[in-house]
Amino acid sequence: MLYYIKKNFSLFRDFAFSDTIIYFGVAGVLAVQFVALVNSFVNDFFLQLIISISGSDLNFDQLNFKINGTPINYGMTITILLNFVIILTLLYFLIILPYKAIKTSKVLKKKTCLICFNECHIEATKCYHCHENLPEKKEENVLKLTLI
Ligand SMILES: [Zn+2]
Repeated sequence: MLYYIKKNFSLFRDFAFSDTIIYFGVAGVLAVQFVALVNSFVNDFFLQLIISISGSDLNFDQLNFKINGTPINYGMTITILLNFVIILTLLYFLIILPYKAIKTSKVLKKKTCLICFNECHIEATKCYHCHENLPEKKEENVLKLTLI
């Protein structure tokens, strides 16, 4: 019984202090800060800019209309929708597009020598390590990009 608990505790300790958990923790903190930054940008800058251009003294969060005396707060929906669109746009242009560019660039693609199993440049015709002729480009011989 004690051995069983000790073994599972060591497995739990390995899990709790694994790299994946650390990365998820850092990603969570970054996500929270990113959302706070976008919220601040939308509420304190973008919507205030729209209000100042329109010349009226309104608060976007308090925009509403009433149906049978019940307020429908569409201003809050507009604010959250703007947050969503800005987050989506920033994620696309700051993360997804550069990731796709790196992934499809030939600079980081490599192929493996079938004799010595070392990696060579995708355009190489001879192995840098053993000087054997490399096979022509084939998709199954191209290694996928591995990010750090
Ligand atoms: Zn080789």
